[in-house]
Amino acid sequence: MSEPAAELHPKKLFIKTYGCQMNVYDSDRMADALAPHGYEPTQVIEDADLVVLNTCHIRERAAEKVFSELGRLAEMRAEGRHFTIGVAGCVAQAEGEEIARRSKAVDLVFGPQSYHRLPDLLARVASGEKVVETEFPAEDKFEHLPSPPLEATRRRGLTAFLTVQEGCDKFCSFCVVPYTRGAETSRPLRQVLDEARALVAGGVRELTLLGQNVNAYHGADADGRTVGLGELCFRLAELPGLARIRYTTSHPSDMSDELIAAHRDLDKLMPYLHLPVQSGSDRILAAMNRRHTRADYLRLIERIRTARPDMALSGDFIVGFPGETEADFDETLSIVREVGYASAYTFKYSIRPGTPGAQMAVQVEEAVKVERLARLNELVMSQTRGFARDCVGRIFDVLIEKPGRMPGQIGGRSPYLQAVHMLGPESLIGTLQPVEITGVSTNSIEGKIVTHAGHKPASVNESTPVAAE
Ligand code: SAM
Ligand code: SF4
Repeated sequence: MSEPAAELHPKKLFIKTYGCQMNVYDSDRMADALAPHGYEPTQVIEDADLVVLNTCHIRERAAEKVFSELGRLAEMRAEGRHFTIGVAGCVAQAEGEEIARRSKAVDLVFGPQSYHRLPDLLARVASGEKVVETEFPAEDKFEHLPSPPLEATRRRGLTAFLTVQEGCDKFCSFCVVPYTRGAETSRPLRQVLDEARALVAGGVRELTLLGQNVNAYHGADADGRTVGLGELCFRLAELPGLARIRYTTSHPSDMSDELIAAHRDLDKLMPYLHLPVQSGSDRILAAMNRRHTRADYLRLIERIRTARPDMALSGDFIVGFPGETEADFDETLSIVREVGYASAYTFKYSIRPGTPGAQMAVQVEEAVKVERLARLNELVMSQTRGFARDCVGRIFDVLIEKPGRMPGQIGGRSPYLQAVHMLGPESLIGTLQPVEITGVSTNSIEGKIVTHAGHKPASVNESTPVAAE
């Protein structure tokens, strides 16, 4: 019996992913969509028959990196290498034809809503067409994207992303997301639960639910009733074998009572919340169209911490938004001090064409942005170090994920996403272990597995594999 042509001549797919976790998830789904068409992933660009750049448009530098990478790919083609070049993601959505005009080497430009059509788009490229596909199609791409095959899930490891929501209706005045990812949509509950079950069957122990505005999730259940993120977490927590749930990124005004209750009641929902505030100044929050005040945010944090006292927070901050004065920036420093973050992402404001912020008259000078960013980073870094130091002596459940760098060592993640290293056998990989934190190094913490009687890892249920002592 003859083998299918694709198996005789597998084609190699190289995807370079820029930006957020949603792009990481999308890249895997593109690979899944192409697998039945004979494409195998490769990490070596020189081996590739198809190179896809999955791009990010959130800040100017992120977008510019794509054009320099396209220059490099064009040179490789000029040197005689043969491969197809595709540009996906938010730059593709925002710039469309402009990419094909600026870089003649590009064969295919396709936006995030077209990933399920990738095999058809490649067939058009093969017949000599230059394809630009940035429409928002009426059909649901998730209904058409194949589920990750069991083998691919196993290869990808114990933790997985699962996009439950896309797009945004908030229109913060600095942000391109509503334009590149479109209106807010949520995947139906059944679809999400099916995918979660398949991931768990493939060995996944920790799921991170993703959305540009994930806590705005409002998926329909089988009866057409709307289900929020809180209820979704309760439903996922029932899955035997799933040990941990996380979600990102959230907007403060979408933290519902039910979601806060989920944090109170579910051991599987990790006590680590990424809740960006962007600025501590009410004047700037209003200009950013964030729809909440500093006091609203602080009240919310208090409610969350009352429900879940061991909750740690991370956040996003933008410095140098148009019109930000020194007094506004001081308010940002003061909200960071008041909240106390375990970690934070800090950004200089970047003008995004087409957003209201780009039209604002009083742009802040680059040198001022640089100086404010440095001061904010110093404060945030001291909080991150302080948080890690405060972990010493505590006992956490650590999900053991891989062998460590040193012989006899294994590594995993704490509930707060810190990398933890400890001595232990590799047979513990895939289990949750109680680990006492004993020390802090630059990018990780160290601990030792505690085996005293009576400690039961908090978030393990009957079906989660727990190694024998
Ligand atoms: N939906 C989330 C929220 O409301 O906070 C944010 C998602 S956004 C994709 C990720 C982060 O990028 C934002 O929180 C913001 O701090 C940063 N960001 C977005 N646009 C930016 C811009 N024009 N300049 C600098 N940072 C920006
Ligand atoms: Fe962008 Fe988040 Fe604002 Fe939506 S809520 S516009 S994704 S920053």
